[in-house]
Amino acid sequence: MRKHRFSTFSPTLGDLSNRIESLLSWCIAAQRSAVQKTCPRCEDPCCGRVQYLYDEKDVLYLEFSGQGEPPRKDRRRTPGCPYLGARGCTLRPQARPYACHRYVCAVLEAALRSEKAALPGDLQQAIRDIEALRAELFTRYLEILS
Ligand code: SF4
Ligand code: SF4
Repeated sequence: MRKHRFSTFSPTLGDLSNRIESLLSWCIAAQRSAVQKTCPRCEDPCCGRVQYLYDEKDVLYLEFSGQGEPPRKDRRRTPGCPYLGARGCTLRPQARPYACHRYVCAVLEAALRSEKAALPGDLQQAIRDIEALRAELFTRYLEILS
């Protein structure tokens, strides 16, 4: 991992970020089968309806989990996410903006439920846990700066 100017504090910020990454990995694995069944056949993919989605908490999470800076913002004006490629998202799943993990459309939710009835609820709980960790990461970072 690259050293940065907050390396003195990185065990705390790094630990929070690593916990976020672990929960994201769980969410990605839990959704994989349902996503593979539904998203490639989607007629109006959500990734084609958004733009650049990284926020400041994503930047902190990526930095302190050792994944570096998010990809640069693409200033092109064409509709859709700049990281959407011909075969779907071009980013490493754990490095995608948090908003991409949080969004579960009704079709995907139904597919998740058909895999396991409790899966949508389990995912919502994981997302709440990630929200709490992201908030704590941001708060601790601001405390260090002040
Ligand atoms: S999450 Fe829903 S809207 Fe987005 S690509 Fe998959 S099926 Fe389509
Ligand atoms: S970053 Fe990837 S998953 Fe998120 S909107 Fe863009 S293409 Fe879709």
